[in-house]
Amino acid sequence: MTQAANTYEELSCQELVELVTDYLEGALPDELRARFDEHVAHCSGCRTYLEQMRLTISTTGRLTPESLSPEAESALLDAFRGWKHDG
Ligand SMILES: [Zn+2]
Repeated sequence: MTQAANTYEELSCQELVELVTDYLEGALPDELRARFDEHVAHCSGCRTYLEQMRLTISTTGRLTPESLSPEAESALLDAFRGWKHDG
């Protein structure tokens, strides 16, 4: 279906969403951070998501699990599925 054949396992959009707080806190190991950067580099949906998370942090001063409701998270994941099919 796709021509993606990277030498390492690519993060899925959902994995990226789960890692984004660690990423923004600088808590990811180098290898994982590199994979995160690689994904964001070619996935406009996740790039937008990352920018929104950064904006949330700059607005609230911090990012807590409560800042993203389960409903909002599920809506985001639905949107990511849509982006994936779009590509
Ligand atoms: Zn993505």
